[in-house]
Amino acid sequence: MTLQDDERMIRAALDAAAAASDADVPVGAVLFDADGVELARAANAREASGDPTAHAEILALREAARIHGDGWRLEGATLAVTLEPCTMCAGALVLARVKRVVFGAWEPKTGAVGSLWDVVRDRRLTHRPQVRGGVLEDECAGLLESFFQDQR
Ligand SMILES: [Zn+2]
Repeated sequence: MTLQDDERMIRAALDAAAAASDADVPVGAVLFDADGVELARAANAREASGDPTAHAEILALREAARIHGDGWRLEGATLAVTLEPCTMCAGALVLARVKRVVFGAWEPKTGAVGSLWDVVRDRRLTHRPQVRGGVLEDECAGLLESFFQDQR
């Protein structure tokens, strides 16, 4: 995949983030199949649904698995997300066997795809998704910064 492909995917994730409720941190995730066709998209809905696991990545994975038609496996799929995934989401991405993870902003405090941990590329795992981080980083980080500014 070229950087242009990855930027297109992150733009879709930025669109998805815009659907988050006013109370939810605007994080968006989109899953694409091996041909780059969109399978599912979601925004973080932890506050809206009162569910600690309702991160954008998890919601998009669940929806994509329903559509993809190969049970729970999302082999060949790429997940694009505006913020570096946490440990829960990184674990779920490994379990779903996605091929690639592309993300926008780095999350040094909780990131589990290279910042604080590197869950997806642990050499002890048999399935290790490829990663590209920092795609459209400024736009993705800016969305979060303006959300937290409005919160004050
Ligand atoms: Zn998460």
